Parts: sequence; structure tokens; C-alpha cells
Amino acid sequence: MASERTLSIIKPDATRRNLTGAVNALLEDAGLRIIAQKRIRLSRERAEDFYQVHKERPFYNDLVTFMTSGPVVVQVLEGEDAVLLNRKVMGATDPALANAGTIRKIFGESIEANSVHGSDSPDNAKTEIAFFFSEGEITG
Ligand code: GDP
Repeated sequence: MASERTLSIIKPDATRRNLTGAVNALLEDAGLRIIAQKRIRLSRERAEDFYQVHKERPFYNDLVTFMTSGPVVVQVLEGEDAVLLNRKVMGATDPALANAGTIRKIFGESIEANSVHGSDSPDNAKTEIAFFFSEGEITG
């Protein structure tokens, strides 16, 4: 399996509770390398753009409001099968349904405030990484 990159976001519920380091430790323990990382505040416009695919979902507006409610940490993760591996480390969307030991099970507050985002396919990973990072900001 080739080395791959994926986009991860530590969401406002986690930055608010000072959990950036704790989340990063779980990512690194799983074998993912954080090869780019920055803490930013998303504007409403940028959050709407990022979640464009969910535009028709009933929770879209709430999700955008939540994602702009505090700082987020956007990061590029690299590793073998990184997209799938990160999804495994994150756990299910709903923390109540996530497996024991996953980030969302340990830290997630609700189906919305579930602490982390992770790309769901290699194609989306490329698009999402380019949304936040220029090549020069990524040091593999
Ligand atoms: P993910 O790929 O596991 O993050 O899940 P989705 O792509 O389905 O949803 C994107 C994000 O929208 C999730 O991570 C949650 O923050 C939020 N979300 C998903 N489902 C719901 C829901 O039913 N209600 C609310 N309020 N937010 C949701």
C-alpha cells in the first residue's frame, strides 16, 4: 500500500477544550505523520464553501455555524493508507456509535461536535488539502 495524504481538521469543540495535543497524540500513535498544520478561524463563507457537498442536508447551517464558532486546526496527515487509517482512528460520525479508543468516542460531544474531520476518499483528500494548503506549506 502506497504512502498517502489526507486532510484532518480538529474542530472547535476540541480546540475549545485544549485537546489539540491529545488528538495529535492519537493520530501519531496510529502511525500518521502530521506534515502540515495550522490553527485558523474559518469565515462563514469559507466554511460554507468547504461543506458545499452537504448544502442540501438539514444540518448544513448548524454545521457551518459550529465550524465557525471557534478556531480549528487544519492538518495534512501522511502514512500508509492514510485516508482509511485516519477514518479508523476518528471513529463513526456519531460518537455514541464510535468504537472504543477512537478520537470521536473519547472526545466527541455529539454527532455535530465530534472533534475531528477527515477526508473520506483519496480524491476528496487532494481537493481538501488544496483548499487549505499550498504545496510549499507541506513538508513530507
Ligand atoms: P463524517 O464524514 O464522519 O464527518 O460525516 P458526514 O460527512 O456525514 O458529516 C459531516 C459533518 O456534519 C459531521 O462530521 C458532523 O460534524 C456533522 N453532522 C453529520 N450528521 C449530522 C447530523 O445529523 N446533525 C448535525 N447537527 N450534524 C451532523
